[in-house]
Amino acid sequence: MASAQESTDLYRIIDAVSAERIERDITTLANFGTRHTLSDTLSQTRGIGAARRWIKSEFDKISRDCGDCLEVFYQKDFIKKGDNQRIVKDVWIVNVVAIQWGTTNPNSFIIMSGDIDSRVSNPTDYTSDSPGANDNASGMAGTIEAARVLSKYKFENSIIYVGLSGEEQGLYGGKGLAAYAKEREWNIIGILNNDMIGNIRGVDGVVSNRDFRIFSEPVPPTETEQQRRSRRFYGGEVDGISRQLARYVHKTTQQYMPEMNPMMIYRLDRFGRGGHHRPFNDAGFAGIRIMEAHENYTQQHQDIRTENGIEYGDKLEHVNFEFAKKLTAVNAINLASIAWAPLSPAEVKIGGIVEPYAKLKWEAVPGAKGYKIYWRDTTSPTWDYSRYVGNTTEHTLEGIVIDNYFFGVSAVGENGFESPVVFPGGIFRN
Ligand SMILES: [Zn+2]
Repeated sequence: MASAQESTDLYRIIDAVSAERIERDITTLANFGTRHTLSDTLSQTRGIGAARRWIKSEFDKISRDCGDCLEVFYQKDFIKKGDNQRIVKDVWIVNVVAIQWGTTNPNSFIIMSGDIDSRVSNPTDYTSDSPGANDNASGMAGTIEAARVLSKYKFENSIIYVGLSGEEQGLYGGKGLAAYAKEREWNIIGILNNDMIGNIRGVDGVVSNRDFRIFSEPVPPTETEQQRRSRRFYGGEVDGISRQLARYVHKTTQQYMPEMNPMMIYRLDRFGRGGHHRPFNDAGFAGIRIMEAHENYTQQHQDIRTENGIEYGDKLEHVNFEFAKKLTAVNAINLASIAWAPLSPAEVKIGGIVEPYAKLKWEAVPGAKGYKIYWRDTTSPTWDYSRYVGNTTEHTLEGIVIDNYFFGVSAVGENGFESPVVFPGGIFRN
């Protein structure tokens, strides 16, 4: 097992992601005319029904090519007319799910998502042309491509590749899949939600094919009053589980794709706007949004038209497929790293009040070769200092005063891959 996977595999994965296949798939998705959640489901060529059948057939094809390594199915929920103002008729919200089951921890999942659905200016207009090339055929095509590339490997933890529906009508698909996961008591390590990964020309004139954003909320909305209170005394305002996932992606990208400029954004999503990681956060799971850094608002949620010389609409010609390829590779190396790593340590606790040291304890993780303690200045966004401490469940950092840093612990596998960092959830005194 140890020799089967190495960090050099991540470079192979980056190289295997294809801009041509992503272009082909975004084109196919845009050519369904509209993929509005309430659009036609019977046509073979137009509407969300044709789109989701095509996505399923792509996942099925990938699975055939890897000896049935994916379990592909529709996960759906019925939503009644009037559930909110954007649901103007009864509708089945249908997600397309592909699971690559893990060999060691099949009940632990890392998820990559894109969205199936699209919209124009009026969110209830389900007949007009709505190519949604960037929003969000780009994320959907990236997810399918990541499945193609990673299906050539085997992983310890499970990976889910999913096309979520009903995003523009109120984040319905994410809500449905998060509930499905909870019912089955799946351990969701996190979701990498990709929503708009193909635009490099900002509405403000900035052009960059390196910058991208990783959005994460500070702390889970499900935390208890007691957790909130203890945070006041022990810290953790910027150290929730989604933030740790964001730091993980940031670090992996800097290490393996140094040409990219990942920007951690310390907020749930763009100002007042939404995405499909949020319903997972609502359910208590870690989840982040990965997306372009420079948006063009004349090309999102717009009727296709020309006004005062400006071409409005989310059309194919605005998508940069090489950039979508890069962000797909960012996802793929993080899915692989996490799926090859042991699970994060549980019961991480910290001590060292009025002592000239900081001490950490945690529970042993099956399959871990050892553990790594991280710390950083309280004002730093990234885990800047670390020490590998071997196969133990406690360690004392002599001379490191607990007051002056934040701390965390990760588990490291025989293969060198590492879990996301865990911020201590409790303290001890001795
Ligand atoms: Zn949108």
